[in-house]
Amino acid sequence: LNPRDLYPERRNSRGIDLSNEFSLAALSDKLEQSGREMPVAGPMVPGLGVERKRMPVRNPADLQEIVGYCAFAVERDVRHAAREAAKGEAKWAEVPVEERAACLERAADMMEADMERLMGLTMREAGKSAANAIAEVREAVDFLRYYAVQAREMLAEAEPLGPIVCISPWNFPLAIFVGQAVAALVAGNSVLAKPAEETPLIAAEAVRLLHRAGIPESALLFLPGAGDVGAALVAAPEIEGVMFTGSTEVAKLIEKELATRLSRHGAPIPLIAETGGQNAMIVDSSALAEQVVSDVIGSAFDSAGQRCSALRVLCLQEEIADRQLAMLRGALNELCIGNTEMLHTDVGPVITQEAREMIEGHVARMEEAGCKVERVALPPETERGTFVAPTIIEIASIDWLGREVFGPVLHVVRYKRRDLMKLIDAINDTGYGLTFGLHTRLDETIRQVTDRIEVGNVYVNRNTIGAIVGVQPFGGCGLSGTGPKAGGPLYLGRLVRTGAKVALP
Ligand code: GLU
Repeated sequence: LNPRDLYPERRNSRGIDLSNEFSLAALSDKLEQSGREMPVAGPMVPGLGVERKRMPVRNPADLQEIVGYCAFAVERDVRHAAREAAKGEAKWAEVPVEERAACLERAADMMEADMERLMGLTMREAGKSAANAIAEVREAVDFLRYYAVQAREMLAEAEPLGPIVCISPWNFPLAIFVGQAVAALVAGNSVLAKPAEETPLIAAEAVRLLHRAGIPESALLFLPGAGDVGAALVAAPEIEGVMFTGSTEVAKLIEKELATRLSRHGAPIPLIAETGGQNAMIVDSSALAEQVVSDVIGSAFDSAGQRCSALRVLCLQEEIADRQLAMLRGALNELCIGNTEMLHTDVGPVITQEAREMIEGHVARMEEAGCKVERVALPPETERGTFVAPTIIEIASIDWLGREVFGPVLHVVRYKRRDLMKLIDAINDTGYGLTFGLHTRLDETIRQVTDRIEVGNVYVNRNTIGAIVGVQPFGGCGLSGTGPKAGGPLYLGRLVRTGAKVALP
């Protein structure tokens, strides 16, 4: 069997070599240019005339810096928008899948060509490091190309659901925003997209680009706003599906609302939710200690720990724990923390003051409870923004974890070899199941552990973040989400009517 027959040909997008001085210099120039722009955004809904007051969007690395301005939608706009999206869907669903896919591919090329500008805005609006911003744009491009190819293969005869609400998070303000919207669009649905309140500007850029690529303004509507806008969107009677990435609590509220209604075809209204995790990594005494250091630092502290895939609890076999922790401490102290306009920055700010307070509250409570807490010193310039010092907290057992802490905080537990299976059960018992990492050089341990762990994405002898579209479909189980996995072959199938003809590879 030739794998080519199973999987249509496609490629992932290009990056930028940050170790090459010429590409670095060119990147710096373009980022500087992008930094001089002052984008403005607001709702993009056909026939919505009212001008609303624009509020400044600030750089979390330096709260004095205004990145651009955005006007938020209000509840009244949502009612109008939902009616427009229903009209828009009727027309868009008539467009052949080939043409819809071609719009996505045009958008992918445009986005790739505009990479540095999009990066610059992501860095300033979301506090992403240069490397993270590159990955962000690449992931958005990858989603566009992947879903285009999948749609051609699978959806030629499928019938869309109707207007879909997409509610996306600030931690992947471009990639997840685009991934949700274009998956729904290529399946023939219209989309009401609500970006995270903290990051509307990069999302607005993406919407304008998608419109230029040929997706009609009546099929892709944009409603920046806070939680009230999201709630109103989910409650709108025209809605036939919701895609949501965010907290488990909000996912439950959405599910509750949707459970009170039926779709226009008399079926339950689907929710695709991708939520949090209490992601663990187990490191046994056979693991390669140096490799563990770089994978733990990346998994826990990259993006200031603000990924739902981020490592929250490192489980060290007791014989190697002290040595491994000493090495981790050394590496932690080498991290550059600061404003991401400096291209060498490893760890940027957390997204808001409120987020910082929640994380700091958790660290203080753990310290009061007697846990050993170690923190990296923050450089003085970080006072300008919302930074949290990378932190390691030793805890006695997995049940100390409690709620997901969305920041640069890594918990560490020690375990005895004979309790390995009990440890896996405790990790499963958190109820979450997003990512999991294992470092060992014993084949038998790999088999036993991976058989027993219940999560969406398992990574062996590597880091646990940065799933690649089409290579590592991403999504969890239990409290971590409903599936299907984003960037995987089953995703589009959830965005068309059940019973509709879907050709699976
Ligand atoms: N897909 C991302 C990763 O693997 C995480 C997505 C998220 O944080 O929502 O790192």
